[in-house]
Amino acid sequence: MNELLQKERARAHDMSQCLKALCEIESPSTDPAGVEAAARFLAPQFDALGLASELVAVAGAGPVLRAKNRAGHGDAKPVMLLGHLDTVWPKGTLAARPVRIDGDRMTAPGSYDMKGGLVVVLFALRALAERGALPPVTVYFTPLEEVDNTPYRKAMEDEMRGCSACLDFEPAFPGGAVKTGRKGSGQFLVRAHGISSHAGADLALGANAIVELAHQALAVQPLTDAARGTSVNVGVIRGGTRTNVVPALAELEMDFRYPTLDEGRRVEAAVRGLQPHVKGVRLEVEGGMSYPPLERNERTLSVYAEAKAAADELGLPLSEVVTGGASEASFASALGLPTLDGLGPDGDGAHAVHEHVLLPSLPERVALTADLLERL
Ligand SMILES: [Zn+2]
Repeated sequence: MNELLQKERARAHDMSQCLKALCEIESPSTDPAGVEAAARFLAPQFDALGLASELVAVAGAGPVLRAKNRAGHGDAKPVMLLGHLDTVWPKGTLAARPVRIDGDRMTAPGSYDMKGGLVVVLFALRALAERGALPPVTVYFTPLEEVDNTPYRKAMEDEMRGCSACLDFEPAFPGGAVKTGRKGSGQFLVRAHGISSHAGADLALGANAIVELAHQALAVQPLTDAARGTSVNVGVIRGGTRTNVVPALAELEMDFRYPTLDEGRRVEAAVRGLQPHVKGVRLEVEGGMSYPPLERNERTLSVYAEAKAAADELGLPLSEVVTGGASEASFASALGLPTLDGLGPDGDGAHAVHEHVLLPSLPERVALTADLLERL
């Protein structure tokens, strides 16, 4: 067996104890104190490795945990090691479902998504600190990934602009694959303003907003392009008041997913350009792309190639997948950074009661990350 991997496997117990302790600090997105406690648990451990950590305040939320090389790194740009401190589990979940270890499996709220990944970052940097000098890195753990990153999005993007690449430690795809692509997502609200009138006496004076949106629902459906991986779904439609009134107002809400920014822009342009079919109706469109895609482009594939080479050297299998769900890695990708996601441990059950981490994957991901960082 590879010597480096063997060394990390000898520490598997420390890793699982660290993960257990971190999972026992409940940190729902909506609980700033809990998120801060998780950050405070990790910060001194990064400091002990030669990093300078900092809790950056975020209005109305827990802090961002940021850690940088204390000694600096000249002109070299750091690699961002991205993760989130928050979980989807409300306080009290732990009392009902405490951390459980059965053989190779740790079942705990927040273990797989994504405290396991935070532990991988910590131990990978520990391994590198022991091998010699730490490479230039910026650890960036966020407080609100699961709900809405608006309060720190700009600060995060500014930090990303100063980095050479981004590795995100969101959980591996079940089975261990890393994520080389994620679809972007967006939403639209289409509002039809018609003219109400008496359905019996003055039908011709009205302009039916519901009939208008029925046309528009059919008009947006063909924007789906299954071959390219773009989808459009009209999910909500509402309007009208009574059967004997021509409806003056109706609204349609739709979701769209896209593999590339170009595809997102294509859908945006088409929806913004919708023209009314019913005489006398005016259309109003709100919304657009919200989460950019992690594009499976050359830059991302170049990081994946390095990860694959590191895995080969360690004697570990590694594969890649493209998934539908979003993560903050997409913002790095949209800024042009080579970006790889899903470097966290293997397991299953994100946002589900059977959420668990497969413990043997912790030292494997630690060794992989340490080797990958040496190659970037
Ligand atoms: Zn996550």
